[in-house]
Amino acid sequence: MKFKYCPICGRELEEKYSWDEGGVPYCPVDKIMYFDTPKPCIIVAIIKEDKILLLKQSYIFKNSKVLLSGYVTNGENVEETVHREVFEEAGLKIKNLKYLGSECVESKEIIMLTFMAEYDSGEINKSSEVEWVDWHHIEDALCEMSEDKIGRGIVKKVLKEIGYNGEKAYRCENDDCNNETF
Ligand SMILES: [Zn+2]
Repeated sequence: MKFKYCPICGRELEEKYSWDEGGVPYCPVDKIMYFDTPKPCIIVAIIKEDKILLLKQSYIFKNSKVLLSGYVTNGENVEETVHREVFEEAGLKIKNLKYLGSECVESKEIIMLTFMAEYDSGEINKSSEVEWVDWHHIEDALCEMSEDKIGRGIVKKVLKEIGYNGEKAYRCENDDCNNETF
């Protein structure tokens, strides 16, 4: 966020020169520079045999399912965020966490840290924050996630990681989708 006023004291910020960043909004009272940094967020594809965990969150996408995601909280490392969010939102334990790269969502000021993980234990226990959550066959994931471009990119990476070499999973991309489960 590009700050104009100090969120602590409310004073209008001055511009202060910082070596690499150029002019940065600065509060001379609180002596804080407000850098324009994104919020770190995790997103994880959880795999159980030939299934993947998908959620429905209408406030994110109205007609499409998504992977589990959440914000990194101050005081935890990113791996802890993934385990915490998976347990909070779905009631599951995961293992073999693997980092798949990052995606920038400039309009939302988010940096998405993307992961895949294997199901370890537990039964799905949906948080009240989550509209719907369940396992889907991984071959249906791309069709179910039509609006979620970042999520689809992660699923494609997962399909490679698990050595999937069929065609059915990609039928939406090939304009061959008769999926009417929405
Ligand atoms: Zn201030």
